[in-house]
Amino acid sequence: MTLALGIESTAHTFGASIVSDKPPYILSDARARYRPVKGGILPREVAQFFSQKAGEVVGEALRQAGVSMREVDLIAVALGPGMGPALRVGATVARALASKYNKPLYPVNHGIAHIEIARFLTGLRDPLVIYVSGGTTTIASYLEGRYRVFGETLDIALGNLLDTFAREIGIAPPYVTGGMHAVDRCAEGGSFIEDLPYVVKGQDVSYSGLLTAAVRLVGKGRSKSDVCYTLREIAFSSVVEVAERGLAHTGKGEVVLTGGVAANKLLNWKVEAMSRMHGARFKPIPAKYAGDNGVMIAVTGLLAYKSGVEPVALEEAVIRQRWRIDRVDVPWYPMTLTG
Ligand code: AMP
Ligand code: MG
Repeated sequence: MTLALGIESTAHTFGASIVSDKPPYILSDARARYRPVKGGILPREVAQFFSQKAGEVVGEALRQAGVSMREVDLIAVALGPGMGPALRVGATVARALASKYNKPLYPVNHGIAHIEIARFLTGLRDPLVIYVSGGTTTIASYLEGRYRVFGETLDIALGNLLDTFAREIGIAPPYVTGGMHAVDRCAEGGSFIEDLPYVVKGQDVSYSGLLTAAVRLVGKGRSKSDVCYTLREIAFSSVVEVAERGLAHTGKGEVVLTGGVAANKLLNWKVEAMSRMHGARFKPIPAKYAGDNGVMIAVTGLLAYKSGVEPVALEEAVIRQRWRIDRVDVPWYPMTLTG
């Protein structure tokens, strides 16, 4: 049995988890989430919060799993992409633990980790990936050693669109309550209006024009629920449209949806309907693993370890704020933890 400690600290969540390569795989999942009182996330405040919580969260992950640091075989840490000050906390904690306990250290790309946890949880081994979160909107799939990007946003990400819009019209934060986004609640009883732009360029989506136009409409007194309903409809339909073309282009027979916005019911329903139309298999992931967590980092580190990827020297474990998923070799593919 091999045990990995995974550490996540790229954005709003400091997460730590112990994952085993044998059932039941996920032995623990500890998290501390930074919630801004108002406005967006301030990198320095997050870093301060993470520094205060890191020891507690790692301790909790070990306690839940019932293992000691000595029994851990490797440490995996998300080194990017993300916010510099936040990333540095996870990197520092991981280097300190690797040094103190003499454990191999594996750098993990946060985006790859969102993909790997979706493949692990669904058992879909070779999917088209729809990765939608606060900072990312990417359609990707595996080809010749790496995940390749088949489409992305030209400006802001889907989660950022929903959060910023909700904040601008005064219905958030909190952005998500009881598993529903503020925009979903606001959209209840709304209907589609014609006045908002739907922008798809080639294989890419664009949301910033939609955001500006929607905020302006609410400012002019249009019904919030109609604008919420329409913004959500356009935002989701456009990402599903580029995913559909990605599916046709790559010829994949499976689809996964991952990243924070993958917790959204309506988006899952739309992706499922699109997949069914093309005879592709789709399985949703449990909402609690859609957003950032340490489990996905441990899963990915474990895959690297088991496929013979070399760990890095401590001084090489440096953060990479703009680390793209298509820069990372994935020699374990299509293997997952379940085989
Ligand atoms: P991540 O950075 O991967 O944890 O994703 C965070 C993003 O997911 C934020 O923009 C959240 O607003 C968004 N999100 C979380 N839950 C939902 C949901 N149920 N529907 C839509 N967006 C969500
Ligand atoms: Mg994320």
